[in-house]
Amino acid sequence: MSALNLPEFDTPNLPLENLASGACPCLILNADYQPLSYFPLSLWSWQDTVKAVFLDRVNVVDHYDRVVRAANFEMPLPSVVALKDYVSQNRAPAFTRFNLFLRDGFKCVYCGSPDELTFDHVIPRRLGGKTSWNNIAAACSSCNLKKGGRLPREAGMSMSSKPYKPSMHQLQAQGRKFPPNHLHESWLDYLYWDVELKSS
Ligand SMILES: [Zn+2]
Repeated sequence: MSALNLPEFDTPNLPLENLASGACPCLILNADYQPLSYFPLSLWSWQDTVKAVFLDRVNVVDHYDRVVRAANFEMPLPSVVALKDYVSQNRAPAFTRFNLFLRDGFKCVYCGSPDELTFDHVIPRRLGGKTSWNNIAAACSSCNLKKGGRLPREAGMSMSSKPYKPSMHQLQAQGRKFPPNHLHESWLDYLYWDVELKSS
């Protein structure tokens, strides 16, 4: 995304520390105006956002009450942009630690504890259990230890949910349950209808 040579941005109306990377992040919507990702929330730095505007890859939907200035232009800092090209959400999610914990809501499937999470082979490896979406569940280390190399019923343990291979849509739905602490007010029209604005 750096094909375009951007001028150095001069922002005389802002203290520099307020424009450190990570400040004034911009919410990224897909071309259908749904967030590209809920968790982690799809955000770009203001620098990347301004580049994308210059490259004509996004539509500016809303903006901050701040202006970025360079030699020959000035523009309000975007707070919400929508991609012009739709990014397909139909791809299969990667089998990663993060996605697996997200599927299980960052809780042990046996006791519900969010602490010391690790992975449990529901069908133990000694019985041929595979390391796959359908056989790995999030478990706290004490449940993992208690279960050992046994099947859940052998260990007298029940599961709140069985492991499954999630779709991207299912992971997104899980991610909606974990809104970040900092939400700019301009983002709320596009996500988390049920969450109260805490800060802006
Ligand atoms: Zn547990």
